[in-house]
Amino acid sequence: MIALSAGFMVSVALLDLAPEAIGQHGATAAMLMLAGFLLVHLTQHTLVPHFHFGEEVHEVTGAVSISALAGMLLHTFIDGVAIASGFEIRPALGLIVFIAILLHKFPEGLAISSIFLAAGSSRQRAMLAGALLGVATIAGALFTDLVAPLGEYGIALAAGVSLYVAASNLIPEFQAKRDWKVQGSFFAGSGLYFLARNLISMVS
Ligand SMILES: [Zn+2]
Ligand SMILES: [Zn+2]
Repeated sequence: MIALSAGFMVSVALLDLAPEAIGQHGATAAMLMLAGFLLVHLTQHTLVPHFHFGEEVHEVTGAVSISALAGMLLHTFIDGVAIASGFEIRPALGLIVFIAILLHKFPEGLAISSIFLAAGSSRQRAMLAGALLGVATIAGALFTDLVAPLGEYGIALAAGVSLYVAASNLIPEFQAKRDWKVQGSFFAGSGLYFLARNLISMVS
């Protein structure tokens, strides 16, 4: 699922979000893409002692789990911004972005829940942490409609954030795995993207 969602998301970031953003705002969009990319690294890694996607298999402290959750909130908020600004531009774009975000929500929820379990939290708290990421995503979608600059430039930020999530959160989790099913899923994810995009353009 991590590999499949990475292949899908890197395709959406490079073929839909980035060209759309640059087409609308030119060099400003490119700058915002970089800002989005750097911001995710800052909030998820630089300011957070320990976080990675995939199952947490070693023990961590409560502070680590809370800071990982706080760090993930920016990225998941922008997930919502990506969907809403995609739909604002055209429904077909919104739909393909929605699929990309949906696919990586499973690994995302698993990552944050498992870090809470590894910190000794109850199952309820682990579930709550996953639910909070969902709430942040919905908040991102709502704020895109309410906050004008977010509606205007959200697509550029989302391009940088999605590229980071795909290439620097998801891909490193399976990069070293010598398993053809895992490696194949990555390319299949990109293939699935083209299939979905063609299907969407046929019906829209
Ligand atoms: Zn770990
Ligand atoms: Zn996400």
